Amino acid sequence: MFFKDKILNEEEPKLSIGFFHLSSCSGCQVAFLDMFEAAVEILDTVKLVYSNMLTRQKEIPYLDVAFVEGALCLEEQHHLNLIRELSEKSKIIVAIGGCSSFGGVRRFSCGNQPPQPQHQSFVPITEVELLKGKVKYAIPGCPPNSSLLYNFLLALLELNDDFLQPFEIMALSKKASGFDVIAEVVNKGLCVGCGTCSAACPTRAISFKIECAKPSFNPSICVHCGSCLASCPQSFKPYPQPTYT
Ligand code: SF4
Ligand code: SF4
Ligand code: SF4
Repeated sequence: MFFKDKILNEEEPKLSIGFFHLSSCSGCQVAFLDMFEAAVEILDTVKLVYSNMLTRQKEIPYLDVAFVEGALCLEEQHHLNLIRELSEKSKIIVAIGGCSSFGGVRRFSCGNQPPQPQHQSFVPITEVELLKGKVKYAIPGCPPNSSLLYNFLLALLELNDDFLQPFEIMALSKKASGFDVIAEVVNKGLCVGCGTCSAACPTRAISFKIECAKPSFNPSICVHCGSCLASCPQSFKPYPQPTYT
């Protein structure tokens, strides 16, 4: 019960969190900072100790939770140094958004967001060997919704495992495109035609027509953010694999 213990600890009563930026558009950080208006009520239990947008801190302090947006560029020494420092100074790391969790537009160069020519190789932090076991949660989205980030922070403070478990699964998952919704839900006969995947898609790569009652997918505009599969009410159910006899 680490985080709860910490909050009850009178000498260090606040959960220290930081926000760190790798190769990204900063959209996830904007969504993260957006939640702070709603987060006023938890400011007595949380302290933002690092953010390149909001704090003047140059040195990275030791902290409880590092939220990281963006993919790691293998040709960028600054990124490699940051990852090494976070592996030593943070207790856990949370990947925020498709770039950090799955590679997103960085790795796949899609959605009309190609990387700079000198930067060719990107990996999500969930796949970095040095951070194995340290990246405990991944939050899908491009960017994730601010309310989702707020609720995630609350769940982290309360150690609400029911809420956190899907994010733990996402940190170990490589399933982050509309293809996975088709393969994991529709093709297995699990789709109930609710349309949530389509509503969650930031690029409309997943569309939904009432008359078809099933989603369809346009891979050319998918940014591999993982929102569709994560938001599908059928995707986390432990159904057995279908058999065709
Ligand atoms: S996941 Fe989307 S919003 Fe977040 S940094 Fe990547 S491109 Fe930007
Ligand atoms: S289909 Fe849409 S929601 Fe699903 S991964 Fe692609 S961009 Fe994200
Ligand atoms: S969210 Fe899941 S169940 Fe709903 S339409 Fe999409 S694939 Fe089907």
